[in-house]
Amino acid sequence: MSILHAHTGLDLDDTQVGFAYRSTRDLEVAYALFKLLRWGPLVRVSNTLGGVALRWGLPVKPLLRATLGRLFLGGESLPDTLPLLKKLHAYGVTSMLDYAVEASTDPADQEKTLQEYLHMIAFARAHPELVGFVAVKLTALAHPLLWEKIASPPLPPSLRREEERFREKFEQLLAAAQEASIPLMVDAEESWLQAGIDLVVEEYMQRFNQERVVLYTTVQMYRQDRLEYLEGLLRRASSYRLGIKLVRGAYVEKERKRARNQGYADPIHPTKAATDIAYDAALMQCLERLDQVALCVASHNRNSCMKAAQFMILKNLPHDHPHLWFSQLYGMADPLSFGLARAGFRVAKYVPYGPIEKAFPYLARRAEENSSLSDQSGRELAWIAEELARRRKLFQPG
Ligand SMILES: Cc1cc2nc3c(=O)[nH]c(=O)nc-3n(C[C@H](O)[C@H](O)[C@H](O)COP(=O)(O)OP(=O)(O)OC[C@H]3O[C@@H](n4cnc5c(N)ncnc54)[C@H](O)[C@@H]3O)c2cc1C
Repeated sequence: MSILHAHTGLDLDDTQVGFAYRSTRDLEVAYALFKLLRWGPLVRVSNTLGGVALRWGLPVKPLLRATLGRLFLGGESLPDTLPLLKKLHAYGVTSMLDYAVEASTDPADQEKTLQEYLHMIAFARAHPELVGFVAVKLTALAHPLLWEKIASPPLPPSLRREEERFREKFEQLLAAAQEASIPLMVDAEESWLQAGIDLVVEEYMQRFNQERVVLYTTVQMYRQDRLEYLEGLLRRASSYRLGIKLVRGAYVEKERKRARNQGYADPIHPTKAATDIAYDAALMQCLERLDQVALCVASHNRNSCMKAAQFMILKNLPHDHPHLWFSQLYGMADPLSFGLARAGFRVAKYVPYGPIEKAFPYLARRAEENSSLSDQSGRELAWIAEELARRRKLFQPG
């Protein structure tokens, strides 16, 4: 037991705590799946074939449900997620609900997504102990072109109408969130869409985050310009409270490829180490200002989570400070989530749900993230293997 653990109860490597909510059978299945995912070429081929098979209506849904769905999806509808949310709550972890469907340019789909977001807020209001946040994607509510163009006016008339329609939807959502006391977390997207999203979210944070934080923006620290952006955001927010979800960023390859193809400078840090340094610097900037900033540390990185927790301990700040949250995706980094919760920190597991065929792109991204290209599957496998070995030893005779 480390000195830190002995004094604070903080242990982010305790797999017994991390996996207490999962059965041995569940862990065995997860182990086999993470092992399969490490085989990068298989993941890439399956992701392509899976997408095609779903489009052609081939019967692949049961297979998807039994594999990636089981591992990373909280359910296929909102009520479906209840047993999981209750289980998380029993171990001191709340949830951030995410309707895991991709952006659509069809206004009818956008309207459906708005209605689903409103249902999520009503559901959260009915179960305040189970749901801490609702995640929203602005590209699911308006055409991507709006996000590309809105930061450089004047807009052509068709996009002006799109902007009006978007604002109506978003204000309806914000009013419902405010009324229900359920904060909305806006996801961050590709850099060419994010400039528009940043502009709009900052404007609405200023309007809605006066007394409490109703709206959170997301800042992706893999971008080279984000420390400067964060400093500006902090400077400009003197008259309201900022809500910031801090992530590293999900689109490294896509960003680099577009920059290469279109001949502009790569916006992403050149190395993982540089991203890590920027993330931890941003973390400290926010932690130093917890009176003004509500921070969500959305990361599976043990060092970053440990740094944030240690900051609170060293500064003698309450672990359950209302302005500090940790969040990890459902199906990943459980020892961090439950270790932090055990030590009294506020944790919201990011729980995606949605019809399996619509959630497929989300599942494919998780599969890629856990393929041989990343350290993540190695980490998950090591944790699960340790817990399975611990349980086997426990039940060995003699
Ligand atoms: C609750 C939650 C919400 C999220 N929401 C969003 C969101 O709204 N938008 C979004 O974009 N992402 C989001 N993500 C994903 C996130 O951005 C990361 O992709 C993921 O969490 C992995 O990063 P990590 O901090 O967990 O740690 P690690 O696993 O330590 O870091 C991996 C990350 O480091 C960066 N990286 C890896 N290799 C390199 C390299 N060669 N050069 C530069 N950087 C590199 C990438 O960002 C990569 O994702 C979310 C994650 C969580 C847990």
